[in-house]
Amino acid sequence: MNAREFRRRGKEMVDYVADYLEGIEGRQVYPDVEPGYLRPLLPTAAPQEPETFEDIIKDVEKIIMPGVTHWHSPYFFAYFPTASSYPALLADMLCGAIGCIGFSWAASPACTELETVMMDWLGKMLQLPGVFLAGEAGEGGGVIQGSASEATLVALLAARTKVTRCLQAASPGLTQAAIVEKLVAYASDQAHSSVERAGLIGGVKLKAIPSDGKFAMRASALQEALERDKAEGLIPFFVVATLGTTSCCSFDNLLEVGPICHEEDVWLHVDAAYAGSAFICPEFRHLLNGVEQYADSFNFNPHKWLLVNFDCSAMWVKKRTDLTGAFKLDPVYLKHSHQDSGLITDYRHWQLPLGRRFRSLKMWFVFRMYGVKGLQAYIRKHVQLSHEFEALVHQDPRFEICAEVTLGLVCFRLKGSNKLNEALLERINSAKKIHLVPCHLRDQFVLRFAICSRTVESAHVQLAWEHIRGLATDLLGAQKEEKADRKLK
Ligand SMILES: *Cc1c(COP(=O)(O)O)cnc(C)c1O
Repeated sequence: MNAREFRRRGKEMVDYVADYLEGIEGRQVYPDVEPGYLRPLLPTAAPQEPETFEDIIKDVEKIIMPGVTHWHSPYFFAYFPTASSYPALLADMLCGAIGCIGFSWAASPACTELETVMMDWLGKMLQLPGVFLAGEAGEGGGVIQGSASEATLVALLAARTKVTRCLQAASPGLTQAAIVEKLVAYASDQAHSSVERAGLIGGVKLKAIPSDGKFAMRASALQEALERDKAEGLIPFFVVATLGTTSCCSFDNLLEVGPICHEEDVWLHVDAAYAGSAFICPEFRHLLNGVEQYADSFNFNPHKWLLVNFDCSAMWVKKRTDLTGAFKLDPVYLKHSHQDSGLITDYRHWQLPLGRRFRSLKMWFVFRMYGVKGLQAYIRKHVQLSHEFEALVHQDPRFEICAEVTLGLVCFRLKGSNKLNEALLERINSAKKIHLVPCHLRDQFVLRFAICSRTVESAHVQLAWEHIRGLATDLLGAQKEEKADRKLK
């Protein structure tokens, strides 16, 4: 493909994308295919001779789209939102065109510098204190990671290195292995599975702290665990507090957990992967209170709820040397003449991979084309829609709400057994008009209704609820008949 053809195909592709997104409501949100559907539809090996663009595009509709779950359909209410906006899509194109690998300042100065400034812009939107911002007097700074999972792992590994060095400095005879064996990390029993994985990958114990009646981690439970472990000679070194848990969007009590971490000299990482975007609205900012004094690192995903397409996970640290000190290696082929000036950032020291894309372009385009006000309006609309759904659930006495609705997620269920609710979800997801996923809250099977799509409106929420109610009526009717049948026999 030469530039001339690229111009033509590029315009066609933009039309295809716009048609896809404009018409997405007409597509079934969840596909009909069975596992393994695709292989028989593809040749067994790559073609020897070149094929045409037209043939490929035809196949996209014919064999790819039938196997796509349409995350941006206004009938998609599963998981959490994943961001999509036109400015971010366009910026992603430009990112592909520049195609630089921004591991160091010298590898592409704009790539590094725009990221540093965008992370400061975003930090200011959240009213993060100056210590987290690179452009201020503090020792902190922000970095774009690929995912919240990576951010948690990076924080855990940095904390592990920090505590190990500290203990070795105090007792030079101690081996790293002897220390790591005793390290313990903590997170609430509601934390995301990526936290447990970070513990596994980091080779340290991770203990689940029982959450309270509102699914929040509280001081007493954490303190108890720390005391018990210290009495056994273990070394607490890392706590993850979650703001907006994946199951039910509950909030760990940062103002209680923070002081304990501070006192015990334990690294506190705050995971607000989903909820973080809401903190750009003053009315939700209080949910982040405590981050100032207590957090060593803080992370959330603009690629979830802030209209910046995947991947873009924003992570800040209070002391950038905690990261750069932990992961720094300087082979001669990556050295450059400015690196020791102290003025510039080499982001490769802040992350696991060497290579990194020019992801801050997406933030720059989105922040400028929406404005903070536009982004706030977007968040508020989603929160309002979730409260609308919550009110609908309340109106039907057969249903109950299972957790406080704070942002864009509603956890609900039919009053009755887990089996009944599993059957309801099964009916919902096999009808494929809308898509939901469940969660467990304690021993209850619960349905999650997450406001996801950029284009979801009140009418979609109403339709979804009518649909769920109808399926519930069918299900309860069928059960009654079954019971009656059993009695007759
Ligand atoms: C979604 C989510 C994650 C994982 O996010 P990735 O960016 O996919 O790694 C982690 N923590 C919480 C609370 C989440 O909701």
